Amino acid sequence: MSQIIHRSLRTTPAVAVSAQGAYITDIHGKRFLDACGGAAVSCLGHGHPEVLAAMHRQIDQLAYAHTSFFTSETVEQLAAQLTRTAPGDLNYAYFVSGGSEAVETALKLARQYFVEIGQPERTTFIARKQSYHGNTLGALAVGGNEWRRRQFAPLLMDVVRVSACNEYRDRRDDESQQQYTQRLLNELEEAILTTGPEKIIGFCAETVVGATTGATPPTPGYFQGVRRLCDKYGILYIADEVMCGMGRTGTLHAFEQDGVIPDIVTIAKGLGGGYQPIGAVLASEKIVAALQAGSGLFQHGHTYICHATAAAAALAVQQVIERDNLLAQVQQQGAYLQQALREVLGELLHVGDTRGRGLFAGVELVQDKASKTPFDPALKLHAAIKAQCMARGLMVYPMGGTLDGQYGDHILIAPPFIVTRPQLDFVVDTLHQVISEETRKLAGR
Ligand code: PLP
Repeated sequence: MSQIIHRSLRTTPAVAVSAQGAYITDIHGKRFLDACGGAAVSCLGHGHPEVLAAMHRQIDQLAYAHTSFFTSETVEQLAAQLTRTAPGDLNYAYFVSGGSEAVETALKLARQYFVEIGQPERTTFIARKQSYHGNTLGALAVGGNEWRRRQFAPLLMDVVRVSACNEYRDRRDDESQQQYTQRLLNELEEAILTTGPEKIIGFCAETVVGATTGATPPTPGYFQGVRRLCDKYGILYIADEVMCGMGRTGTLHAFEQDGVIPDIVTIAKGLGGGYQPIGAVLASEKIVAALQAGSGLFQHGHTYICHATAAAAALAVQQVIERDNLLAQVQQQGAYLQQALREVLGELLHVGDTRGRGLFAGVELVQDKASKTPFDPALKLHAAIKAQCMARGLMVYPMGGTLDGQYGDHILIAPPFIVTRPQLDFVVDTLHQVISEETRKLAGR
């Protein structure tokens, strides 16, 4: 029995021993196609020689130096790379060790911005239902994934919560897409006015929702409306792109496809592609200028911020993506994947919706297609699908639905940007088989 506190304390996961390209091999020599990048992490696949070489070089020269004494050339280069490729005036970067730390950093940076400009009465965040922003207490507080936050709720700061943008689940039959979007924006404006705009720090949202509902994109115009409302009331717009960012959707930042530029952006998973733990916050000029002109100090920090080896891995990952024009690959292979999911899985009796952007796709399962009634979460359909896919050598990321029927079991698919068409065909065919078999078993109960 393992002595690690694994997520499940009743089972021990398979033991991975090696990985190359899109595949991970376990201790028994079985190969798995990593079609979810773990949790949308491995954007370049595994064992990329240039990333490994960059990490080796960095370790030989300088593995780590504490930021109260030094910066490093590599971390400065990574900041230059990220701010050069970001749109607008997202001219500053702050490096941490993962997504939750990035979200905590973003929340504190936003709060400090208002303290610095003489508006300390701003203490509240607005965030959405059906969202995931991480597992630390601040990130969990802004997150709207009820299953993950329920038992910790008494420990969390109060957050004003508005509806998610989930067209499949929440657009009424008598509403156009535009009317639905406007309804959500009206709700947001009402929440701002009820709370008092002068008390609000920022609105925090995933551009394409990942871990809660499975690659759920916003409706057209939704984030433009959000940007307008944030500007109207002097509220910061914080985009959490920890999962959907860094090329996963076909543009470096998912918000580029929505025609907006946030004030603060969090990124992580695809930044380092899993080669090292790394996350970052990108911040706009006005935020950093306010701190520079004010206290001159960001009141935040962790021991491993700006870690040189993590920066070397991320810099190499991002340079390969740019040089090899992998975003074009994401767009092409993503279009192929999304169409195959729509056509092949869409015909299944219990597939309610297929959705996503680029190589970030979601499949939602329902007991009844017409009423969109989810399967009873107690049946743990997602867990059976995961187990059966693993048995067939396929890694996808299934998650459960909610007890109150807000959304059903769903499957997240996020293969590496180097994925091939035959590999995508294997993903879709295997899912077709597994979903058919597992939902048939439930129907026959
Ligand atoms: N934000 C989003 C949108 C995420 O999807 C995640 C993780 O899935 C996080 C934050 C937290 O990141 P981490 O697990 O690296 O702490």
